Amino acid sequence: MREPVTPPYIFFNGDVVPWEQATVHVWSETAIRAINVFEGLRAYWHEGENRWHLRAWRQHFDRLMQSARIMRIPHSYSFEDFDQGISSLLNALPYREHMYVRPTIYIERGRYGFRPEDVTTGMHIAAFPVGGAEEAIRSLRVRVSTWRRSGDLDAPPRIKAGPNYHNLRLAQIEAQQGGVDDAILLNNRGTVAETTGASVFIVRDGIVATPPFSSGILESVTRSLVLTLLREEHKHLDIVEREVERTELYVAKEIFACGTLLEMAAIVEVDSIPLDSNKPGPITTAIAKRYRDIVLGHSEDVYGWLTPVESVT
Ligand code: PMP
Repeated sequence: MREPVTPPYIFFNGDVVPWEQATVHVWSETAIRAINVFEGLRAYWHEGENRWHLRAWRQHFDRLMQSARIMRIPHSYSFEDFDQGISSLLNALPYREHMYVRPTIYIERGRYGFRPEDVTTGMHIAAFPVGGAEEAIRSLRVRVSTWRRSGDLDAPPRIKAGPNYHNLRLAQIEAQQGGVDDAILLNNRGTVAETTGASVFIVRDGIVATPPFSSGILESVTRSLVLTLLREEHKHLDIVEREVERTELYVAKEIFACGTLLEMAAIVEVDSIPLDSNKPGPITTAIAKRYRDIVLGHSEDVYGWLTPVESVT
């Protein structure tokens, strides 16, 4: 992944503005209580076409609306508002490469407000060059966190809300301090939820299993794309959404994690126990390759994942 950069522009309440001009007050609800919801999507740069393709943009937008609804953030932003915002921002920025795009809706004023007349909402879209779509599959060493993934009655994990990331941040700090790449969090029942930013799949005896939404996970877009690839293109395998227990992580033949930013990564060690192969397994490798070929436009977009962004040069 590329080093983080501060882009010169951001889309803020309807306009592309210099990065420094997109400000809220320290006493805004988004600042003091993290009342905001956001998305993270990828815009893949297709060199030959000289334009980006947004991956699963409609699904990300639908999840943004779902997050705002569950968090009771009243707003009137439409698909077109965000769609036009993304294309004007990407075109204004000085990058012509793969980008990570972060639309956000937040409450600025209105203490605990949930009625349109009681709050001021705002929106912004940031976009960063992040690299990605590399040929080599990353291998991660992880630990099971001592932190529990929040539950549906605490901070509902199915949505992407800023405050949900306090839980994941603690797990990530613990992993970093423990000298591993990431953490796997268990839910309130003690079964596997997800990593701090990706969904988890395990492969055992011809079965590919991933925890269901009711295991306390984000309704991940990449997870649904990967499930499509597995179900449509690996029909000999049994693909199941079911609870995964901690000790299954120690005996799985393959484990992989997937998410928009992470893309696909092999998990090769859990709690200092290396998987038998200690390298990306055959199913992980096949799915990662297929995923990459589609998002880069090397293979036909048979599942309709990509939406082109017109490039203004
Ligand atoms: N779980 C968590 C906690 C995440 O933050 C992410 C990244 N958005 C994911 C899973 C993967 O979701 P998606 O595929 O929609 O990016």
